[in-house]
Amino acid sequence: MALQRPKGTQDHLPDGTPKLSRDVQASAFVYVQDAARRVLERAGAQFVQTPLFEEAELVRRGVGGSTDIVRKEMFTVYYFGDHGGYVLRPEGTASIVRAYLQNGLKQLPAPLKLWTHGPMFRAENVQKGRLRQFHQVDYEVLGSAEPLVDAEAIWLMWEVVRELGLKGAHIKLGSIGDPEDREAYNAYLRDLLTPHAEHLSDDSRDRLTRNPMRILDSKSEGDQALLGELGIRPMLDFLGEAARRHFEAVQRYLTAWNVPFDIDPSLVRGLDYYRRTAWELHHTQVGAKSALGGGGRYDGLSAQLGGPEVPGIGWAFGIERLLLALEAEGVPFPEPAGPLLFVAALDEENVSLAASVALAVRAQARAEFAYRAMKPGTIFREAERRRARFAALIGSEEVEQNVITLKELATGRQHTVPTHDLSLFLQGHLT
Ligand code: AMP
Repeated sequence: MALQRPKGTQDHLPDGTPKLSRDVQASAFVYVQDAARRVLERAGAQFVQTPLFEEAELVRRGVGGSTDIVRKEMFTVYYFGDHGGYVLRPEGTASIVRAYLQNGLKQLPAPLKLWTHGPMFRAENVQKGRLRQFHQVDYEVLGSAEPLVDAEAIWLMWEVVRELGLKGAHIKLGSIGDPEDREAYNAYLRDLLTPHAEHLSDDSRDRLTRNPMRILDSKSEGDQALLGELGIRPMLDFLGEAARRHFEAVQRYLTAWNVPFDIDPSLVRGLDYYRRTAWELHHTQVGAKSALGGGGRYDGLSAQLGGPEVPGIGWAFGIERLLLALEAEGVPFPEPAGPLLFVAALDEENVSLAASVALAVRAQARAEFAYRAMKPGTIFREAERRRARFAALIGSEEVEQNVITLKELATGRQHTVPTHDLSLFLQGHLT
């Protein structure tokens, strides 16, 4: 058997591939990236890119040493003579904040809106919608702690969803308060859960000392059952005055802008540098445990990476999961367009001429040509397979009269166009 791709990765394939599903269709990825680009760039976000591998320390500090991502899911990069101090990036935020600090982006007008898309890597248990290499669109805003920035970030995520025509998505909104609120909540959880420590999973028992809030995120069914029985109070009950006012302001803006959301009182992001607003984007047909996206404010992250205090907020969604949701809803994608023109010669002497006609048309539009001479029937068939609008034939008669024979495939109508008028003729059919 020929060699296979690694488990948990996907090939993104061309249109027309047999049994092509949306989440591996390369043009569908571009379609989502383009929708995100339109929405985000209209809001003033600028496109950036960072390396696919980073210092392990950046990811450890940026994602959090107590997370599954850092503890279990890192791909370490080894190369000759290296100690393995690099990892493939599991998410985009830490890299963007690092780039902001390293390149003096503080000089740019604040708040600075940045976006990117690209592959992320996590050594996960592979399932549908859970891959080892997946792709995200990321939006990050640095330099403002205003609740209006939070609301705009959520609005933008929702706007991408609308731009794509996705109907079944919904936003769960929460707040994890300020550091002192979280400390109070962690103390509450520790008191409540310590007597039941023996019933918790190993991971969660460990979190009881390090970061009890992360227990609420546990993937263990036993943990979740225990949490259910104990009737835990939600994080929202512990918000201090400032965080509560911030949360209310975000909700007011979203309501004014008609962005639908549900409050999720127990939404948590247990890392030290997360502050206040947190949210997730879910979809009825993708499964409750598989969010399409998530976001949150991370005012403490810059300092965590060794920089000054820089407030920030951002979100990411997984392109594969979004595509699965679009597929599940049957949202129509634009049909992949074919070339305007497919040109072929009827005899070998004119192959080069046919090619040069196509090359000239490429100044205006997509044009393809045949690499060998063909009979008219084959030319039309090949043009149809490529979904061309026009098939063009060049034989000795055409050369003699200095014309090109064109057939519009949808109507079957034939045109004889003087060679020097071809560009003008096609111009009229460019839409
Ligand atoms: P996170 O950085 O964990 O908040 O993830 C943000 C989004 O990326 C998720 O909501 C998913 O849509 C996507 N995502 C995260 N991990 C994976 C994965 N292993 N496979 C596919 N998509 C993922």
